[in-house]
Amino acid sequence: MTFRQTHLLGIEQLAPDEITTVLDLADEYVALNRSHDKHGDALKGLTQVNMFFENSTRTQSSFELAGRRLGADVMNMSMQASSIKKGETLIDTAMTINAMHPDLLVVRHPHSGAVEMLSQKVNCAVLNAGDGKHEHPTQALLDALTIRRAKGRLHRLNIAICGDIAHSRVARSNLLLLHKMENRIRLVGPTTLVPGAFAELGCEVYDDMKEGLKDVDVVMMLRLQKERMDGGFIPSEREYYHRYGLDAEKLAFAKEDAIVMHPGPMNRGVEIDGTIADDINRSVIQDQVEMGVAVRMAAMDLLARNLRERRAA
Ligand code: ASP
Repeated sequence: MTFRQTHLLGIEQLAPDEITTVLDLADEYVALNRSHDKHGDALKGLTQVNMFFENSTRTQSSFELAGRRLGADVMNMSMQASSIKKGETLIDTAMTINAMHPDLLVVRHPHSGAVEMLSQKVNCAVLNAGDGKHEHPTQALLDALTIRRAKGRLHRLNIAICGDIAHSRVARSNLLLLHKMENRIRLVGPTTLVPGAFAELGCEVYDDMKEGLKDVDVVMMLRLQKERMDGGFIPSEREYYHRYGLDAEKLAFAKEDAIVMHPGPMNRGVEIDGTIADDINRSVIQDQVEMGVAVRMAAMDLLARNLRERRAA
């Protein structure tokens, strides 16, 4: 097993063999999660603190379940209603948490780079659960596991990432991961939402959905990140759906066995037609949720092994 990281801050820091290590271990955890007794002991005796400075449903519950299944003591801190509101700085919050001796700290924050800064101030392993528009590494890893299990491989696939790429940390992390694993990536969306700079990473850029989806193996849809927009990016949601919403007509341009993905939460009728999202022959959206728990178990297990080694040295 190869995994050299102290923290999981982004896909940027991971080498392809480390990505494969996480996915291989996650495959084992998928089997555990499907069995009757779902308990492992990889995190026994360890304390996991979840600090979410931004709302989350699936990511927070997925991390919580992952930690509990592996035997950690898990504490959720409600940062929305916390002393941050009273003016405490991020560093002071970090120092307070650090004094409670956590082993794993899972952090979501609206500012890019905030999680990395926090990781420099604490003595435990930090996992980035999404920082601003920057990265969301466990999302990209769970997407990779979903693709690998559906397609039997994670290289030389044609993958279209569609929609609001500019504001999406999911797109950024996926782009980095899929590029490292040598896939052909297309970015599809209105020019206002697809930064031209991404083409430098070797992606093809399309502003027409039908052209962009032609013969792809994977269609990855993204949520319109309205909370990160300051207006003027799309004419109207109706118009956006008409041109960029995934419906049967547009999907027909992809390969016959192409899978459809979405990280959630979904805006039905804005970026995706509800019947496509619910079509169990095409959509792997529920698999993504299942893979999420397994990938987070694997990531925390690997970080905990490295933490133990460092502390023993
Ligand atoms: N849940 C993902 C995230 O936190 C995707 C989204 O919100 O659109 O980035």
